[in-house]
Amino acid sequence: MKIAFIGLGNMGGGMAANLAKAGHEVTAFDLAEPAIERARGNGCAIATSAAEAVAGADAVVTMLPAGKHVAGVYRDSVIGTAPKSAILIDCSTIDVATAREVEEVASAAGYTMVDAPVSGGIAAADAGTLTFMVGGSADGFAQAQPILEKMGKAVIHAGAAGAGQAAKICNNMLLGAAMVATCEAFALAKKLGLDLQTFYDISSKASGQSWSMTSYCPVPGVGPDTPADRDYEGGFAAALMLKDMKLAMEAAQEAGAYTPMGAEAEEIYQRFVDRGGASKDFSAVIQMIDDSWVPPQEDR
Ligand code: NAD
Repeated sequence: MKIAFIGLGNMGGGMAANLAKAGHEVTAFDLAEPAIERARGNGCAIATSAAEAVAGADAVVTMLPAGKHVAGVYRDSVIGTAPKSAILIDCSTIDVATAREVEEVASAAGYTMVDAPVSGGIAAADAGTLTFMVGGSADGFAQAQPILEKMGKAVIHAGAAGAGQAAKICNNMLLGAAMVATCEAFALAKKLGLDLQTFYDISSKASGQSWSMTSYCPVPGVGPDTPADRDYEGGFAAALMLKDMKLAMEAAQEAGAYTPMGAEAEEIYQRFVDRGGASKDFSAVIQMIDDSWVPPQEDR
């Protein structure tokens, strides 16, 4: 199958490589030279533009930073240029409204398009173990599924166009707020004189247990190995968590949903990013919640 892949960054680079490894003819495009070189090294043919990449493709996969990039690439280079028979798959995390608008324009032009954002970070993109949440028609899902399976361990149909993005931001809003609550519980436990390992042993088997505690514990040396044990390097950057919290808050406002915990968590990640935490794992927010944290040099 001929697959055009646009957006070969941290995530897209590994995903395009897995499609090539699976035997697909991948023609890739990115604006950044290092991303192009990596894709070339991983068996992808390189196009000189997005339009050149999609010409003659059976499928188009995009993995771009945000809604404006997705809308621009589909408007300028995909719709009207890719064959009408090509399945269009956007894997970027973007706002629900833009995802629905782009799908509407594609579908009015005779294309089948799905939104298929991912859960799992760069390591999962490289290993081909992402989880895809897919929004679109049953036919769109059926066409996208075998392609997505080459890049992931789970491919789930979430519903109509935009439903993949909706599932992704609801999940990440829950994760973001749950992590803040977990950090608060550990910070309070410390102030109350509890040993943090003892608190973990109790709460991980009691009703306060959550994924944020038992799979991604924000306290170094407690629970399984997590970014906290590596000075919060790697993992899921706080800046990306903030992006997803903002998308969730935008969607909540548009839908008229009451999300006070999400709003508060968004503000906390914003403060953490503003104070120099953008590239740290999002669980490092505990360093701001626990007031023994010393901010980075330039912010003091
Ligand atoms: P990234 O910034 O590393 O990669 C994006 C790539 O898109 C860059 O290489 C950039 O040059 C390219 N690009 C931008 N505009 C372009 C255009 N017009 N034409 C061609 N290429 C263009 O970002 P990433 O970390 O790979 O994330 C991609 C998407 O995946 C984002 O929406 C992000 O929210 C989502 N996501 C990321 C992670 C993660 O852990 N990094 C996890 C889940 C989801």
